[in-house]
Amino acid sequence: MTDHIDLTARRLSQQKRIRMMMNAIRSEERAKIKGGPEAVAWVKEELCIGCDQCTIVCDDDAIEIYGVPLKSPIMIVDSNKKAKVLRDPCTGCKLCVLACPTDAIIMIDR
Ligand code: SF4
Ligand code: SF4
Repeated sequence: MTDHIDLTARRLSQQKRIRMMMNAIRSEERAKIKGGPEAVAWVKEELCIGCDQCTIVCDDDAIEIYGVPLKSPIMIVDSNKKAKVLRDPCTGCKLCVLACPTDAIIMIDR
């Protein structure tokens, strides 16, 4: 029978395996996306859900969250959050593109 220690060890080993697979997939994805000093991130406002993930990964303080009026009349929310990339501090590192859960960020020519 599997005891608690066995289960913990198996869980840790599976976590490690999944993390390695995810890292490999992400680095492949990252390599395909245009980046570097000639590129800058751009947020498609209609896809942004204001989740704040991009600001967490951006080391260059190049992303700001701002409020916009919510378009739906059936929900009572004062403001809806959106992200905006500041062109000058953006280094084109592409981290925000990989972090965005809704694929709202793309890289464009600077
Ligand atoms: S590409 Fe890098 S520097 Fe530019 S906004 Fe995204 S995370 Fe920040
Ligand atoms: S991670 Fe994507 S969805 Fe979330 S705030 Fe940034 S741009 Fe918007």
